[in-house]
Amino acid sequence: MTTPSSTTPAPFGWCHWHKGPSGTAVMVSVVEQNSGPGAALYACAPCREQRGLTPVAEQAHEVAYRDYLLHTTDCEGCSRLGRCDVGGRLRNIYQQALEVTC
Ligand SMILES: [Zn+2]
Ligand SMILES: [Zn+2]
Repeated sequence: MTTPSSTTPAPFGWCHWHKGPSGTAVMVSVVEQNSGPGAALYACAPCREQRGLTPVAEQAHEVAYRDYLLHTTDCEGCSRLGRCDVGGRLRNIYQQALEVTC
């Protein structure tokens, strides 16, 4: 039960599924009940594919928000004054994903 004082709780590059070091390990969201709240688990790319795990950074609303931001950055039809068709649709997807998650 020793807690590192300055670094992140989980060692970087460690996969909790095959229980070994990995360069592709990222934090994943775990829905299983027995893992308890706030468990930060890391899984490498092969384990994520095998188990169908979702990286935390790629949850639906985050992906949708990233798409939306990327679009509005590049799109000439999207400005502070309004959104083009595509921009509006991406914003809808983002808001719907948010509602599902929260
Ligand atoms: Zn693994
Ligand atoms: Zn646009």
